Amino acid sequence: MSDTTTLCPRCAHRTIEHIFASPVPGVWEVLQCGRCLYMWRTSEPARRTRRDAYPEEFMMTPEQIGAAPQVPAVPPLRTPAA
Ligand SMILES: [Zn+2]
Repeated sequence: MSDTTTLCPRCAHRTIEHIFASPVPGVWEVLQCGRCLYMWRTSEPARRTRRDAYPEEFMMTPEQIGAAPQVPAVPPLRTPAA
């Protein structure tokens, strides 16, 4: 793996999973961080794929990941208006 994919852009974790590869071999890959679950395609801009270019305000620490709220539950379906 190249230097651009050895660190999670968001949390700097080193365990990166290979999720998917382009139908035409070698064009791009989809990767996912094993800790924060951030997922990216290698052909996206550096600000989405490289730790050194990722926006600081979106970076996460292990403490922030542990304290992150769950994804909100889907609310009950609305009933049709009478
Ligand atoms: Zn991560």
